[in-house]
Amino acid sequence: MTLLKDPMVVNALAEVVGANSLDVVGELAEEESIDEFSLAERLGMDVKVVRKILYKLYDSSLVKFKRFKDQETGWYIYMWSFENHKLKHLVEKVRRNKIVAVRTQLDKETEHQFFMCESGCTRVPFELAMSVGFICPHCSYKMDFKDNSHIIKQLEGQLKEIERTFGQ
Ligand SMILES: [Zn+2]
Repeated sequence: MTLLKDPMVVNALAEVVGANSLDVVGELAEEESIDEFSLAERLGMDVKVVRKILYKLYDSSLVKFKRFKDQETGWYIYMWSFENHKLKHLVEKVRRNKIVAVRTQLDKETEHQFFMCESGCTRVPFELAMSVGFICPHCSYKMDFKDNSHIIKQLEGQLKEIERTFGQ
């Protein structure tokens, strides 16, 4: 399945639907439509687990279903299909969220000076460190200024990396 060879797709699916959705997606994407019992059988998974994954995929608009009534049993059969074209939106959404999260953290790191206690259990901005008299409220050790330029550099690198791969 070529779509599951794209690490961005695998990443987004694992993050939004869960890592256990990958096999189900791989199998679903092979078929025009398939019912959950056949899916469970093929994957050697519990049908309840498969169903849960299908609902999660449905929540993210990644699958649609058609319902038929089994004339013999009177039960409903659900035929599921994978919405391949929706994957792109999911990948972009996950990426956008990541960019926002890294930017927020980067802003916080550049706008504040950070202080850390000697035992390393607490790291807070200057204002907070001052409010506790530069004594760690958890371990009672002194809090000192801690250079955060390496953290800023790391976050900037992360941001560049995500933006570089955007829209590929
Ligand atoms: Zn501490």
